[in-house]
Amino acid sequence: MPFRFARIPGVDGKVLVTSEVGEFEFLDEVDFMAFAAGTLSPATDTYADLQGKHFLAEGDYSSTLRMVAAKYRTRKSFLKGGPALHVFVVTLRCDHSCRYCQVSRQTADQARFDMSAETAAAAIDLMFQTPSPSLTVEFQGGEPLLAFPRIRQIVEAIEERNLVEGRAITYSMTSTLHQADGEVLEFLRRHDFQLSTSLDGPEALHDANRPRPGRESHRRTLDGIGRVREALGERSLSALTTLTRESLKYPEAIVDEYVRLGFPSIFLRPLSPFGFAAKAAQRIGYGMEEFLPFYERALAYILELNRMGVAIQEAYTGFLLSHILTPFPTGYVDLRSPTGAGLGARVYNYDGGVYASDEGRMLAEMGDHSLRLGTVHDSHADLMRSEGMQLLLATGVAEALPGCSDCAFLPYCGADPVFNLAREGDPVGHRPTNAHCVKHTGLFRILFRYLAEADPHVVRTFTSWVTQRPVRRLPDAEAA
Ligand code: SF4
Repeated sequence: MPFRFARIPGVDGKVLVTSEVGEFEFLDEVDFMAFAAGTLSPATDTYADLQGKHFLAEGDYSSTLRMVAAKYRTRKSFLKGGPALHVFVVTLRCDHSCRYCQVSRQTADQARFDMSAETAAAAIDLMFQTPSPSLTVEFQGGEPLLAFPRIRQIVEAIEERNLVEGRAITYSMTSTLHQADGEVLEFLRRHDFQLSTSLDGPEALHDANRPRPGRESHRRTLDGIGRVREALGERSLSALTTLTRESLKYPEAIVDEYVRLGFPSIFLRPLSPFGFAAKAAQRIGYGMEEFLPFYERALAYILELNRMGVAIQEAYTGFLLSHILTPFPTGYVDLRSPTGAGLGARVYNYDGGVYASDEGRMLAEMGDHSLRLGTVHDSHADLMRSEGMQLLLATGVAEALPGCSDCAFLPYCGADPVFNLAREGDPVGHRPTNAHCVKHTGLFRILFRYLAEADPHVVRTFTSWVTQRPVRRLPDAEAA
């Protein structure tokens, strides 16, 4: 059967082989050469292991093909139903002036950067034209709570329309939480919002990354976290950190801040190439070769904390491990093939423009409108036939991209034409120098090295992240 392979630095004498549907095995060099040549002895355990994972088949292999096809359908099942994530950018206003977000934000008094009631109504109509039985409605900004009346209008209109539509709807919002109090919290609780906030680490780092008039960004965020937890419960709130060059010095301190504040998860997110000025990039940006040692150190620290009984996970690692260790897709739209942009997600901008992703919207702020699919007054069919979607479909399938098509990590990775467009001015991208690829090659190597070492504690921790169950509730907890 088709396979791909890689040699992982630090995993000596073994070759990683991966199948089209994401099964993997480490083979020693001799077995690998025999397997590749088709001469591996059927009497060996390796042969049986590879056969069990459908790396090889004998005689009439139609039943093997059927099983592989079923796994493939499961892995790609995110394609069913079309866009399920609908992002409403209700305002570009924000009272922060974060170093990594200088292009798209507008000052808090610029109400002309709010979504109008008419645009919101048209966007809702457009969202319901998509066939997905489950819809996630996400509010973003700017700071979305500066346009809370519009959020309320949108949610109430969706609820009313959904009496007929009968979709499963989840609401989420990315917010600084500074404006979350009283009436706002009660509304969010009533509609069972999932909230995400930015927490860049300890006070000094957070306030340096996320300045606002009067400073106190960290203190106000902590106050907001407290209010949200009290009103909506602990599980309704997660946080993510955006890493500036300064952040890279403090992997342990950033993780410690999340532990101190009782978060079960941290999302260590490198700076994206969107939405901040080139000048700022020189000051706060860095290459992936600087990010990867940071990530490796942070992950080792997180695993050590787990070994000591502190349950905290790194969210992106959780997504990658789910891709590696299970046949199921995650809800994460930014690492898919075909790309999640436009196929899994859609963004309705405050001005009525419709984009394939939030990054597509940011790209437009930087002057490149190629991923503006149309407006809220177009039909779903028109948007799916737009030039922007054609560009994404032609360049957003990793299986067909040079470099990716024969990469061992392909089954777990994704295409990111929007990122490539922003970084290289070309949606295909040049793999050897491509930051998306350098990052993911590095991350997969680190994770496969852990999987090859198979330390029982690490394996249990990874399993608990993938299954979202505490280590003590895993079946092998007593034996281990
Ligand atoms: S982006 Fe890089 S790591 Fe991902 S599949 Fe393509 S070649 Fe492999």
